[in-house]
Amino acid sequence: MKAGPPPHVAMLATPGMGHLIPLAELAKRLASRHGATATLITFASTASATQRALLASLPPAVSSLSLPPVDLSDLPSDAAIETLMSEECARSLPALTRVLSELGEATTATGRLVAFVADQFGIDSFDAARDAGVRTCYLFIPMNLHALSLVLDLPDLAASVPGEFRDLAEPVRLPGCVPIPGSDVPSPLQDRSNPSFSVMVHLAKRYREADAILVNSFDAVEPEVAQVLRQPESGRPPVYPIGPLIRQFVGSETDGPPSSPRAACLEWLDRQPARSVIFVSFGSGGALPKEEMRELALGLELSGQRFLWVVRSPSDEGTLSDNYYNAESKKDPFVYLPEGFLERTKDVGLVVPSWAPQTQVLAHRATGGFLTHCGWNSTLESLVHGVPMVAWPLFAEQRLNAVMLAAEGVGAAIRLPERKDKESIAAVVRELMAGEGKGGMVRVKVAELQKAAAEGLREGGAAATALDEVVEKWEADEAN
Ligand code: UDP
Repeated sequence: MKAGPPPHVAMLATPGMGHLIPLAELAKRLASRHGATATLITFASTASATQRALLASLPPAVSSLSLPPVDLSDLPSDAAIETLMSEECARSLPALTRVLSELGEATTATGRLVAFVADQFGIDSFDAARDAGVRTCYLFIPMNLHALSLVLDLPDLAASVPGEFRDLAEPVRLPGCVPIPGSDVPSPLQDRSNPSFSVMVHLAKRYREADAILVNSFDAVEPEVAQVLRQPESGRPPVYPIGPLIRQFVGSETDGPPSSPRAACLEWLDRQPARSVIFVSFGSGGALPKEEMRELALGLELSGQRFLWVVRSPSDEGTLSDNYYNAESKKDPFVYLPEGFLERTKDVGLVVPSWAPQTQVLAHRATGGFLTHCGWNSTLESLVHGVPMVAWPLFAEQRLNAVMLAAEGVGAAIRLPERKDKESIAAVVRELMAGEGKGGMVRVKVAELQKAAAEGLREGGAAATALDEVVEKWEADEAN
């Protein structure tokens, strides 16, 4: 690092804890490893208690600010998340330009603004950055390289695939990627008449404007596509796999402001035997329809395994974006559980409403499995802590993640069959926790990936070296 004020990076996180958490980790890593400072810029629509707690826990080198609210009331009430995020970003450009111009001028207070980083739904913000005179604009992908490959190819695929992806007879084949069955292509691309399809194609076209693309993934979990994307390609920005960046807690730190008490579910885990509990959670926005919620409860009970389940009110009781934007259930989710379930399972299970300190749960010695919606952050957190997974994807690119995680791909998860009844859920949960067939293989593979993930982040490891290179480029670009 050069002498003088530290390099400063402005980062824009579009709504959703799944975007904010890894960007905040990137900011923390830039601060601790490279002596940089950072400003995390968020949108007014996501000022939930969970988000506020996360922002309050950031170190002094990472500050945050929220853009003023914009009116989205003209959008249809069933607008897809992708549409909402992209619109909120587009309508916030004037405010963002002002913020970035101020950061650019405030050299001595915050450091020298060397780069602007936006996540995948915020690429229109590059216009604001350029208007504010920021020369270096990077894209941050909080997904994996498979998802990136698909989006980079999307403009061509949209033109060449006739009809809907889900009707394709053959899987989508992309260089280095596990073949992706049409029905597992991300949900915003499954209906061409939905505005979210055009939103995704629009974003995809703009990806190539980034000076480079940072991806929260690592080679061992998707080796072939990593090799393909590490090769320079004309017309495509350089790709840097810099993951896994996951939320880390040091010592007695907790999920919230410094004075927060340790969560009751962690105390419960303290009383369970090692690797005996399956953690069940569907990310910051995921919820199941009533019927599936019921089968899951009965399936967990039937499996005879210990479980810790984060329950949300069912998806047929509100819109997905309600949960996604607030990360807290609006209604009491317990009333939707089968009668007598809580009483019958009280010795082996714990059910918590809406939110749990997930990384701390996955890091706990009592956790031995994770039934997950395959959100990419959740997946990385599981791999970093060596926890094998049951895949129950819901929306966004989660079905694609399930394909690459399950047997067709790296083999770190067992995927539940499409029809989810209590018997199949119980059988898969038992296999993951105690089985010697698929369960045994998945447990061995996850242990290998845990090791590879840690090695990549160590001094000289692939992810650490990639981030070093990025910071050097920022410094060099600024000097020119
Ligand atoms: N998360 C959490 N507690 C919860 C639910 C989610 O801490 O009860 C965190 C989780 O650890 C992860 C993020 O929220 O870091 C969810 O991101 P992911 O990409 O897995 O899914 P998304 O929420 O975007 O669907």
